Amino acid sequence: SVPLSFFGGIGGASKKGILVKGSNYLEALANTEIVVFDKTGTLTKGVFNVQEIHPEGISEQELLELTAYAENYSNHPISSSLKRAYKKEINAERVSNVEEIPGHGVSAVVDSKKVSAGNVKLMEKMGIEYNKNEFSGTVVHVVVENIYAGLIVIADEVKEDSKNAIKKLKNINIKQIVMLTGDTLRAGEKAARELGLDKVYAELLPADKVEKVEELLTEKSPKGRLAFVGDGINDAPVLARADIGIAMGGLGSDAAIEAADIVIMTDEPSKIATAIKISQKTLKIAS
Ligand code: ADP
Ligand code: MG
Repeated sequence: SVPLSFFGGIGGASKKGILVKGSNYLEALANTEIVVFDKTGTLTKGVFNVQEIHPEGISEQELLELTAYAENYSNHPISSSLKRAYKKEINAERVSNVEEIPGHGVSAVVDSKKVSAGNVKLMEKMGIEYNKNEFSGTVVHVVVENIYAGLIVIADEVKEDSKNAIKKLKNINIKQIVMLTGDTLRAGEKAARELGLDKVYAELLPADKVEKVEELLTEKSPKGRLAFVGDGINDAPVLARADIGIAMGGLGSDAAIEAADIVIMTDEPSKIATAIKISQKTLKIAS
């Protein structure tokens, strides 16, 4: 049977916008040793600003337009950022044959041209020669009709609340705080340094994130638990694999909310420490 105080714990958490799907997760939370965060949209704002545009063979404006159109149906933070940068209304009738390749990018037919936008992994998959210069930020390479059309450099920043979140986790003696990202090592390390994280693993596909979590699971004590926190975009498999899957932002995909054990309704990562504290207090009362 479930001790009465557990209901109090779940209720108290829900008042703070933390939805715990069962008393077993409250117990698991109280034993958290490792917290693994996804980067984009979880620790960072997920709002990318355009830093540089380097078109090849087309104009800057054309490059931005074709990219915004190709991104029209994606709900990745990169997609909404590029649509915002384009500034004009998008005529969805010009877009068809949309395809999203997790951890790589998107492709779609715009007017009658096939446009692909994504990272180095996408370029390699397509066998396209791309601009290999180093840029500081996240690089979106663009291909039009199988011809390289240049790149757009975008950059995201860490949430104000993230610094606070990491400090709080350190204060309650979480043993390891790790960040996983599909973004470049450069972008990952920049955010990790600002936040004071213990470890960062970058350039991961969704399946690589599951593998990393499996590896980290071997580093905790038998009683200890590992929590993964993500915004839900491409995160469902890893949310399911962690001892405690936490979906953040409330706006994540249905699949992520389904796969998660705990849903944080706000976009504040500091709520993770709040949830752990509530669970520890609840268990103390129960014992
Ligand atoms: P994260 O781990 O940062 O949450 P994802 O796994 O969602 O990242 O994506 C990893 C990388 O894949 C991005 O940094 C980007 O390079 C590329 N990517 C994913 N979705 C898109 C998209 N809609 N448009 C362009 N690039 C994308
Ligand atoms: Mg993500």
